[in-house]
Amino acid sequence: MRTITIRYTGIRECPNCEGRGDDGSAWRPFPCRRCKGRGKLVTEVEVEDSAEGVLPRSRYDFNALGEVYLIDFDEAEEIEVIRPAEPWGRRAP
Ligand SMILES: [Zn+2]
Repeated sequence: MRTITIRYTGIRECPNCEGRGDDGSAWRPFPCRRCKGRGKLVTEVEVEDSAEGVLPRSRYDFNALGEVYLIDFDEAEEIEVIRPAEPWGRRAP
């Protein structure tokens, strides 16, 4: 089966929460809205297609949460998407 492998090649600290992942409140901190509590944002991804090799940037889009959207793919074709393990460990509460 055709596979699409996604890798995160660029990650930066979330500027909204400075990497904490929450609003810093001592009592019931809320998860940061921008990074959803991860403390990090994805800035670059690499997408490798088993059929076409590494895809150009025009074939996919992604957001800071690491969600990748493939562009111009035939939806009838069965494609297995291999997503990276989350590169950010969850902080202990
Ligand atoms: Zn944040």
